[in-house]
Amino acid sequence: MSAGPASGCDAPPVGVDGILRERGQREVFCGLTGIIWLHRKIQDAFFLVVGSRTCAHLLQSAAGVMVFAEPRFGTAIIEEKDLAGLADANEELDRVVTRLLARRPDIKMLFLVGSCPSEVIKLDLSRAASRLNTRFSPNVRVLNYSGSGIETTFTQGENACLAALVPDLAFTDDRQLMVVGSLPDIVEDQLTRLLADLGIGKIVSLPARLAGQMPAVGPNTKYLLAQPFLAETATALDKRGAIHLPALFPFGAEGTTAWLHAAAQAFGVPEARFEQVIAAPRERARKGLALYRERLNGKRIFFMPDSQLEVPLARFLAGELGMELCEVGTPYLHKGHLIDELAALPPGTLISEGQDVDKQLDRVRAARPDLTVCGLGLANPLEKEGLSTKWAIELVFSPIHGYDQAGDLAELFARPLHRRDVLRV
Ligand code: SF4
Repeated sequence: MSAGPASGCDAPPVGVDGILRERGQREVFCGLTGIIWLHRKIQDAFFLVVGSRTCAHLLQSAAGVMVFAEPRFGTAIIEEKDLAGLADANEELDRVVTRLLARRPDIKMLFLVGSCPSEVIKLDLSRAASRLNTRFSPNVRVLNYSGSGIETTFTQGENACLAALVPDLAFTDDRQLMVVGSLPDIVEDQLTRLLADLGIGKIVSLPARLAGQMPAVGPNTKYLLAQPFLAETATALDKRGAIHLPALFPFGAEGTTAWLHAAAQAFGVPEARFEQVIAAPRERARKGLALYRERLNGKRIFFMPDSQLEVPLARFLAGELGMELCEVGTPYLHKGHLIDELAALPPGTLISEGQDVDKQLDRVRAARPDLTVCGLGLANPLEKEGLSTKWAIELVFSPIHGYDQAGDLAELFARPLHRRDVLRV
């Protein structure tokens, strides 16, 4: 990748590798947010946040619990006396878990989720998980991970959760393909069907939909990442002997084709068969994208660092829809997993890692892009300044992977521009 001027706006100084690294105030949700989609994905798991009332409020307002539903997440509140070291937090945690599991026999997997307060009082949740496992296993498997906002961003919550699952997976010698990352069930089914049509025998997903159906792993497992924010999970899988298949991420017609092709090559699928299987869905995706190309072509977009989806989405928007990239900010840049994505960006694209929010907002104001992708906290002030915005978190909650979602993904970016045009009329 070259360190040239940013297209569409003035470029600030960058490092020798062409990447601008900033460390300053950040504006992102914490890793607890991942519980909102993870609890829907693993249908018999419970996520118990060991945190404060603030953590409980975040979850309740973000997840919108229905009055009569039995939620599969909750917060064990650390009170002031715990913070002051006046009570044994471990004893209280054991009491809460015992009560919860007695009342909810449907729970088969329990995640103890660490938070800022549990980290501040240095509550060792991995010790708590192994202690509780000796009591509740094999009926309930207890695992732990951190969703704290001290040094993380919200998609790191899924990364930490899946990484916690990996050491627990059974061993297998089977030759198999593992799709890694929490996808909406319908999208997972579509992609699995395409991979099966290619003739790839055994295909498994991490996470599975039920605690008792988590896949096994071993040296004959090859895996495709479905999300770009799973660095720790991938390291854990590598340790189990699994082999990563580098590829573009499955966004848009071209990204999805490259992602499927990486699997096809690794499993010896003949090119003719590959073309035959993907031709029709790829054509559908291209037609879906054509509807939005005219509206998005030449429009300038600025990504603030938020979801870690920024680099693959920027590649999709520039390559398949002709958008111009002002700046592509990402909280963390895992060059190993993004190597193909970085190579597919237009030369000279300004990439920034980390955040110094005030400086970055100055760059947004100077660039005045047509669309800024950012967190909820920044969207309203920018809209007030007359800039159109897109909430980054919406991209994580919406089905956007694969051929059948390519048009919907483009629409997510076209909609705010359309709204702006309508309001201007
Ligand atoms: S984990 Fe930290 S950042 Fe997240 S809601 Fe709790 S206190 Fe706030």
